[in-house]
Formats: sequence, structure tokens, C-alpha cells
Amino acid sequence: MYESGSGPASEAETRVMQSFIEREQPRVTVWYHQALRIVVKSTGDAKLERLYSARSGLPRRSLPRYHGTAISWQNNAFPGDTAFVVELPGGALPPTGVRRHAGAVLALARAVAPPHEVRKPIPYGPERRADMADYAQRHYGIHDFRLRDPKVIVEHYTATSSFAPVFDYFSRNVPDPELNELPGVCSHYVIDRDGTIYRLVPTSIMCRHTVGLNWTAIGIEHVGQSDAQVMENRRQLASSLRLTRALQGRFGIATRNVIGHNENRDSPFHRERVARLRTQTHADFPKAVMDGYRRRLDALPAPASLR
Ligand SMILES: [Zn+2]
Repeated sequence: MYESGSGPASEAETRVMQSFIEREQPRVTVWYHQALRIVVKSTGDAKLERLYSARSGLPRRSLPRYHGTAISWQNNAFPGDTAFVVELPGGALPPTGVRRHAGAVLALARAVAPPHEVRKPIPYGPERRADMADYAQRHYGIHDFRLRDPKVIVEHYTATSSFAPVFDYFSRNVPDPELNELPGVCSHYVIDRDGTIYRLVPTSIMCRHTVGLNWTAIGIEHVGQSDAQVMENRRQLASSLRLTRALQGRFGIATRNVIGHNENRDSPFHRERVARLRTQTHADFPKAVMDGYRRRLDALPAPASLR
């Protein structure tokens, strides 16, 4: 439609669409027009437009006189979301074209949808909760087992070759051999070699995985013997990046606060009341590896914003 009406949002259809969008707040909106055969550049997420362009075969171009459209209103009103225009060819789309464009829409959906999580909870009853609250009191001065408003995500690897021994180890609420404390160590997520994402503990509860940061950090373990092995495993890395990206969106966590265990002491959120533990760290996922991980994270579409 090219008629703009007597003023902004003057037409009944426009008002109906506005209230629909305000109510649903779609993460991605594609507006179809004809017949310029392009994906129109917008101020939304260019990565999503490029993805649509690659899948549909329509080139991505700017259209300088596209002012006052629903797209600019949406992209300004909902900055975490993306709306853009696809200008189809004229006439009816042939079946191959329908399939290509439907495939492009599905690719967008996959790019922004949170990944599938397999729930595999470890026992975390009243005793372990009390142990966690006591730990938080000793180390952070907070008597609480709940993880409130997490600010950091910490990446680890398990130093095992499979998931089962990790699950068994995290399930036992026994003092750890290194620091000899309760509760037993755990992490919220474990990502297996085949890319399966297991959720062991809800993100509303603290886990003991990183000295100095357990009070505010979500822990993600990766089954593997080294961080290099994880970074070279395409399926595992893809799951890791998608999960981390989704958590970033859910909790509003900046990419700089997605860190490796080895970076714990450099985090602005690091705190530790026990002096001898203030410099404690582990060797997994050092800065050199995490710089590459964070670059890959930022190459993904922006996460859905916290609502
Ligand atoms: Zn670790």
C-alpha cells in the first residue's frame, strides 16, 4: 500500500495492526509487499534480514523513500525486536517460491527461538538448599539459596567424556575434594557432545560452580576434556551459543559478562569474603578462548529482550 492517509495512523487498518503488535509484541515481523523483488533494509537486526535474503534468494537493498511506515514505528517502539519488508515479485508466487519463502520464515523462527532443554533435575531438597544458603552467607554475606537477577554466565568443561558421571557427581550433595565444603558442586546446565542441553537446576536457584560468582552466575558445563574440544565440536558449540544467547535475552546479560571459569577474578561481579579464596580460579575457558566464543555470540541475532 502506498497511500499514507490523512495523518499518522489515521487508517482503521493501521490502528488495528498497531494494537495487535502492541499486544503480541512479535520478536520478528515480516511485512509482505509487491513487486520490487527485494528484502528492504530497516533499522532492525540486519542479521535477520540477511538470513531471509540468503534463504529466499531476494537481494537486500535500501529503499530511501520508505518513510512513516509500520516498520520504522515497530523498530523504534520495540528496540529488541525486528520488523522488515519483503517485496515479492509481481503476480502469484509459483510453488517453488512459496517453499523458499516459507523456508526463510522458518529459518528466522529457528534463529530467534530458545533452544530445546531436556529437564534432568538433580536432587536439590531442603538440606542442600540450607547448605547453599550457609555457603552464600560465608562467602557473600547473603543468607539465601535463590539466584536473583543473574548478571553473569560462566562457561566450563567437565573433564569427562560423557554426561552420566557428571550427573552422578552433581547429584551427590557431598563436600568437594578441592575446598571440602558443602553444598556439593553443580551447574545449571550441562551440554553433551551431541548438542543435547540438559537443565539440572532451575536458574532461580544458586549452584556452586565458580568461586566469587555463585551468588549471581548461571553455570554452563560442556562435556569434554578441553575447551578446544568443545570449540571444535560444531553441534555442541551451536547449542552452547544458542543457550547462552537465549539466557542473555531472558536476563538482560551483556556479552562481556559471558565469561570462562578462568576469567572469574576479572569479573566486576566477583566477590569473596574468604581471603584465601579471592585469587582462586580454574583453568577452563581462559580469555583467549572466550574472546573467540564472545565473537561468535555477537554474530548471532540479538536475543529476545527481557519482558
Ligand atoms: Zn569450571
